Amino acid sequence: MNEYIKNCLKLFKNYKAENSRYKIKLDANENPFNMPYEVRKALANELLSGECKTNRYPDPNADKLRTAIANYCNVSKEQVIVGNGSDENIQMIVNAFVDREDKVLCPYPSFSMYGVYATIGGGITINIPLDENFEYDINTYKEAIDRYNPKVIFLCTPNNPTGNVISQDFITDILDYYQGLVIIDEAYYEFYGHTMLNDIIEYPNVIFIRTFSKAFGLAGLRIGYMVCNKNLAEQVLKVKPPYNINSFSQKAALYMLDNIEVINKHIQYIKDERQRLFEKLNQIENIKVFPSHTNFLLIKTENIEQIRQSLKNEGISVRKFYSEPLLDDYIRVTVGNAEENKLFLDVLSNNIERKDETL
Ligand SMILES: *Cc1c(COP(=O)(O)O)cnc(C)c1O
Repeated sequence: MNEYIKNCLKLFKNYKAENSRYKIKLDANENPFNMPYEVRKALANELLSGECKTNRYPDPNADKLRTAIANYCNVSKEQVIVGNGSDENIQMIVNAFVDREDKVLCPYPSFSMYGVYATIGGGITINIPLDENFEYDINTYKEAIDRYNPKVIFLCTPNNPTGNVISQDFITDILDYYQGLVIIDEAYYEFYGHTMLNDIIEYPNVIFIRTFSKAFGLAGLRIGYMVCNKNLAEQVLKVKPPYNINSFSQKAALYMLDNIEVINKHIQYIKDERQRLFEKLNQIENIKVFPSHTNFLLIKTENIEQIRQSLKNEGISVRKFYSEPLLDDYIRVTVGNAEENKLFLDVLSNNIERKDETL
């Protein structure tokens, strides 16, 4: 252990993102579609013409992009803050609001970066277990609020990696019961299509987080955003790095919003594929597949390590949760394109069958 590391990181293990080089990458909930051709062309033209200049710093306020996002969300520009991926939005929230040893409630199992940033920021991460069906249970939350008096509560809907959504009643109940900050991560909003954002965005303690990494397919360009009331946004701006979104990414995201019809087609394609994949998986014996409002499916089955290995042998990467004992028997598979999904299904069903033959 290093003597120089700060106390809150002495026992901390960093999040290790896999840099998987598989032919078929179904492990990170990425979009199977690259940027639409028209968008690539427009961006290339801006680079060629010198309209997009790399010798100048990017717009620190990302004004054009924030205006477009505000339109998309039906809020005002002042309510939108853009981050270098929504990961950075989570980090900014912690930096702005979590004091040393403040308690931060994080759902479990869910997206692990809430706890990662809360811990790095000196807060105390408290995992709140979802119930046996992976639902958010209001009584568990009320008890945790009474017991820990948390500064911040993170909620994720639809939830990663379980794919289910939080009920409106749950959110309303939490907001009635609790005056601390409620962060609602809607990274998969576009695949679900419903949100309470416009009903509760003026609350003094509510922040929504979204991303361009999933439905918009810009994971490689790192753009996320948060929406909240103007007051909260002003506080968060105190910790925002001035040039956090590079010029190219700002333009790319703007073009994507300008081409929303293409994106909507992609989203529909992915939802159709998800449905197909779900039904096929449902027919395979010895597998439990969870209904999903996202671009991924959570699967439970027995010989998970063997399956994962067989998939890898075929060049298919899926997500296994090694550091999470609760998810030992689970894999999460991202919905890819039709061909990728078919290959995945083939390998999976072969392995399950083979297992049965040897019984
Ligand atoms: C993918 C994901 C994010 C992170 O997205 P980036 O914008 O790429 O940082 C945030 N929250 C959840 C729940 C996710 O699944």
